[in-house]
Amino acid sequence: MAAPNPEHFDVLIVGAGLSGVGAGSHLTTRCPGKSFAILEARDAMGGTWDLFRYPGIRSDSDMFTLGYSFRPWKEAKAIADGPAIREYIHETAAEYRIDEKIRYGHRVVRAEWSSDESQWTVDAERSDTGETVQFTCSFLFPCTGYYHYDEPYAPAFEGMERFDGQVIHPQLWPEDLEYDGKRVVVIGSGATAVTIVPAMADRAEHVTMLQRSPSYIVSLPAEDPIAKLAIRVLPKRFAYAFLRWKNALLTQASFQLSRRAPKAMRALFLKGVERHLPPGFGLDPHFSPRYGPWTQRVCLVPDGDLFDVLASGEASIVTDDIETFTEKGLTLASGAELEADVIITATGLNMQLLGGLTVAVDGEEIDFAGTVGYKGMMFSGIPNLAIALGYTNASWTLKCDLTCEYVCRLINHMDEQGYTHCTPQRPDASMETSPFIDLTSGYVLRSIDQFPKQGSRAPWRMHQNYPRDILLIRRGDLEGEGIEFSRARTVQTPDRLAA
Ligand SMILES: Cc1cc2nc3c(=O)[nH]c(=O)nc-3n(C[C@H](O)[C@H](O)[C@H](O)COP(=O)(O)OP(=O)(O)OC[C@H]3O[C@@H](n4cnc5c(N)ncnc54)[C@H](O)[C@@H]3O)c2cc1C
Repeated sequence: MAAPNPEHFDVLIVGAGLSGVGAGSHLTTRCPGKSFAILEARDAMGGTWDLFRYPGIRSDSDMFTLGYSFRPWKEAKAIADGPAIREYIHETAAEYRIDEKIRYGHRVVRAEWSSDESQWTVDAERSDTGETVQFTCSFLFPCTGYYHYDEPYAPAFEGMERFDGQVIHPQLWPEDLEYDGKRVVVIGSGATAVTIVPAMADRAEHVTMLQRSPSYIVSLPAEDPIAKLAIRVLPKRFAYAFLRWKNALLTQASFQLSRRAPKAMRALFLKGVERHLPPGFGLDPHFSPRYGPWTQRVCLVPDGDLFDVLASGEASIVTDDIETFTEKGLTLASGAELEADVIITATGLNMQLLGGLTVAVDGEEIDFAGTVGYKGMMFSGIPNLAIALGYTNASWTLKCDLTCEYVCRLINHMDEQGYTHCTPQRPDASMETSPFIDLTSGYVLRSIDQFPKQGSRAPWRMHQNYPRDILLIRRGDLEGEGIEFSRARTVQTPDRLAA
């Protein structure tokens, strides 16, 4: 139940990262009559691209697809660094006047839907006063990303407390970290580790990448030569549309072929690595993953920068398990010792759904593990709520743009028809369900049991397939299978959503 006179919005967006700013921009242009606000827990916009400050922070997918469909990425550099992406988000927010809608320092902790009132009551904790404030809204749109902001995944290694040097997690990077002339060990083999190693190599005495097992690595030019040509010879609008489609389809092809012909694709990926390996390096043991391609995210290195620092001797790579931390560094399972002044634990993230907020519907708290996703953005039994969750096998924004378009269509359609509720339905009990995200990466496996399930066919299946989602989400019927629209008993007017 809402406190007396809480502020009401047609739509409340939670989170002012890449997705929240995108959602606000879509709403501004597609639902111009709707009121909305963005509640952001931190004191800055940009989400991931503001939080992460480690050396070399960059995208690992191209900006023609990570950028918004409505505001093309105009630099020739397809793989952009963190500050450039942060700037792009800020510029978008200014252009669409989204910055005026953001309430910083508002951490949303609870949202309760009332069917009688046809609205959400949202509780947010203010970081400046410590008080809890309430808002109400007709549609709730969490754009909270997919991981825990305050608690990165930092496993407790044996003997850690004995280490005399510094241990740092990339998510909590100290801005004043001095590592000139120091010996650095980076624990990990994912996108963050392969970014940090070459970025620290020029100032550190030496950087060692210590991995338990290798990942698939692809080297691509930071500046896409086809993009440079297309931007030069084609009218700008066509150039960006062409580059977005080119990259979306190439990534999709790489994923689909990896799932259908894993042996052939593995050979292709490893051949690509072999071409960049310095003399004396074989694929084994450092570059030959134990799993099939695209069962975990593939790591991208721009212009082979990781291989360059291995070739120059500024960095090296070790594949082994950690036995224990010591005063001087690490003892490995093989018995080898690695001395270090700084150890970076690039061990990953803790996934978190909806930024940790609890959701209740008509007094009943929702356990998301018991729900089934609808079009990869809504959940069975939860009315008037969609989340922005990007692709795991392609750029995040490709899916989020589609999600935002869909939410805007849905809101406009409800207005036109006088509906107040739209509620995804559970598929028939005979439909098999599977985990919401079908990657085998550690960060997924650690928490996937708390996530909703997906069904075996549309609209409950997560296809992770952009062209297919265009048909399902952009072109699909709003009143198709799996969603129920209704009018509140107490409210008869069609323009309740605009109230
Ligand atoms: C290091 C790193 C590199 C990445 N590189 C790529 C890449 O190259 N390509 C790609 O496609 N994806 C990449 N990703 C995934 C990346 O998170 C997305 O690309 C994208 O930035 C997500 O944007 P978002 O706005 O959905 O979420 P986020 O960037 O996570 O922003 C979420 C926002 O919501 C706020 N928030 C969360 N919970 C609450 C709450 N309860 N109340 C109020 N506010 C809340 C947060 O403070 C934050 O500002 C990367 C992720 C990381 C961590």
